[in-house]
Amino acid sequence: MPDTFKAILISRDADKKQSVAVADLTRDDLMEGDVTVAIDATTINYKDGLAITGKAPVVRRFPMVPGVDFAGTVVQSANPEWKAGDKVILNGWGTGETHLGAYAGISRVKGDWLVALPDGMSASDAMAIGTAGYTAMLSVMALERHGITPERGPVVVTGAAGGVGSVAIAILSGLGYHVIASTGRTSESDYLTGLGATEIIAREELSEPGKPLAKERWAAGIDAVGSHTLANVLAMTSYGGAVAACGLAGGMDLPSTVAPFILRGVSLIGIDSVMAPRQLRQEAWKRINAEVDHAKLSALSRTIGFDDIIAAAHDIVDGKIRGRVVVEM
Ligand code: NDP
Repeated sequence: MPDTFKAILISRDADKKQSVAVADLTRDDLMEGDVTVAIDATTINYKDGLAITGKAPVVRRFPMVPGVDFAGTVVQSANPEWKAGDKVILNGWGTGETHLGAYAGISRVKGDWLVALPDGMSASDAMAIGTAGYTAMLSVMALERHGITPERGPVVVTGAAGGVGSVAIAILSGLGYHVIASTGRTSESDYLTGLGATEIIAREELSEPGKPLAKERWAAGIDAVGSHTLANVLAMTSYGGAVAACGLAGGMDLPSTVAPFILRGVSLIGIDSVMAPRQLRQEAWKRINAEVDHAKLSALSRTIGFDDIIAAAHDIVDGKIRGRVVVEM
């Protein structure tokens, strides 16, 4: 394990003005934890973009190494569950927010936060999925728990060309669902149908203020956008259906009414990946390994290096990233 390693560091001055720079850290800079991990790969999630650009108060401790997820190799462990050489994945638990995160050579974390890298999955594959893809799987699992099956009807996926959306389409189509992809980038239609979308609809069909109830169009939805989009998805969900709400790329508000809930028995299911219990995470990663088509994973991801992280973080909040970005460390 090297004595010093490169990291991206977000700092704040006395006027609370944020700055981002590459710094050399030592092991003494690492935070408390019983497992030290050499980071093999990480990724850029929307939340990482918000942290680096400072567009939302994601970072709650300064200085902070951003990066909410990584795949790595255990180099030191005082936790009986892990030993040096083990391959692990970490998603959330405050990394990159309150605990030094993934954009560094090394991280020290609580062993309880880690999940074993599934057999046969590489660190890069795990980060092609990343927190966005693992959230997509949590959303699919939530719809299944609600009794949504392919026979019930189509599932709409909003923010379709983004990370959560792309992986959600790949998973749902693999399970036999008719997937309706809602995107602001209709130029990406071939990409979305390649992932398994059956129909593509324009973002504007859902992003403008709509009626409390509208024509029933789908049995379920996975929404990464929020605001009017989520309100319209709910208003167009058929009787007894369900919508998994996991994102806010279009806004944090929810200008809806109770009509879909009390007149159509529609359910709104909240999805949180950060504090999700360990058993659910293990189940999600097991299913990702078994069910996500490898060719689709390659199609929806590209790889960058450490030096490209800051630019990619700006691009993701500007809606310029398609699918997923893997960072090889
Ligand atoms: P991406 O930036 O990769 O994807 C978001 C997509 O949303 C964009 O690609 C775009 O899709 C669409 N979009 C962007 N801006 C707008 C807008 N103003 N109005 C409507 N649509 C818009 O981000 P991720 O997929 O990584 O994350 C998606 C959301 O999910 C984020 O809000 C993120 O914070 C949240 N998230 C939540 C998690 C949780 O635990 N609940 C975990 C992970 C992510 P298109 O171009 O196809 O229209």
